[in-house]
Amino acid sequence: MAIQTVLGEIPAEKLGVTLAHEHILIDLRPIVAEPTERKEVFYQKLTMANRYLVYNDPYTLLDNALIDSEEIAIKEMKLFKAAGGVSVVDVTLDEIARDPLALQRISSASGVNLVMGCGHYTNASLPEAVHRASVNELAKGMIDDLTVGVRDTGVKAGVIGEIGTSAKITDTERKVLAAAGIAAAETGKAVQVHTALYEENGIEVIETLKRYGVSPQKIAIDHVDVKLREDYLYKLLDMGAYVEFDNFGKEFYISARSGAILNERFAYDLERAQLIAKLVKRGYLKQILITNDICLKSMLCEYGGNGYGHILKTVKDMLLDQGLSERDFKTLVENNVAEFLE
Ligand SMILES: [Zn+2]
Repeated sequence: MAIQTVLGEIPAEKLGVTLAHEHILIDLRPIVAEPTERKEVFYQKLTMANRYLVYNDPYTLLDNALIDSEEIAIKEMKLFKAAGGVSVVDVTLDEIARDPLALQRISSASGVNLVMGCGHYTNASLPEAVHRASVNELAKGMIDDLTVGVRDTGVKAGVIGEIGTSAKITDTERKVLAAAGIAAAETGKAVQVHTALYEENGIEVIETLKRYGVSPQKIAIDHVDVKLREDYLYKLLDMGAYVEFDNFGKEFYISARSGAILNERFAYDLERAQLIAKLVKRGYLKQILITNDICLKSMLCEYGGNGYGHILKTVKDMLLDQGLSERDFKTLVENNVAEFLE
């Protein structure tokens, strides 16, 4: 079956090395709270000179939550391509600045295939219209994006998500999740679900989507690798869904005492690779997705970050060193994403 990119359909075999969950342009500033102290620092623009400030806590600078330069995005995509990358799934939604025409321009200029998402993000980002909409209206919005195109752009989404769920899933988020279930069941498209970093809401998410007729093989539970919980992962895997290790490159440390949105240590890449190797040994290779979820300026090569090529440049070696074969790696970054999307 064909894969819908922002420039039209391509055969699944043409996807090549694909990042399953990224953001090419994004504005996460609406969900970043102003700190009570050090406000003058918070409003500084990110530069190479003050990059050290976001090394451990990415939201020390508000500007780090914004990626808005198409010119830089094109450079970053070209670097990804030079590292061997072919396609990227961009799951940015309207609430965090989805821009279908910009994605088309970036894809054309860089030669990287881009698959766009649809749906709605976490409660804190939602406009009143989404709170008021019915499940059927929300489902229709997603189905239109997938089959007709976003608004009047004619650019079609190729995946649903990342659908937002908070630590305590809100009523509106439940409505959006149900709508995503309806849209996925009707179109056969896959669903990416953002789950709160330190919670175990993936089980409820899978159960909900299944009630609407979505096959678990079309569901990815995102962000399971901030805090590594092996038993939780087995539950998700045994329900038949994909578990997405999408924080490669994020090795933050933020104290719980800070009261910040992120408030624990992030697992390190090597720990993620070690756990993946364990899951692969137990036979779960075909249910794992690996990607970087780039949503911070500091993660871009332009600002001294690993960029989108990180999985190919470094994570691959970590996984091979843990005992995965070249073929296993190819399954993770090519076959699994293609099977999930098609
Ligand atoms: Zn994301």
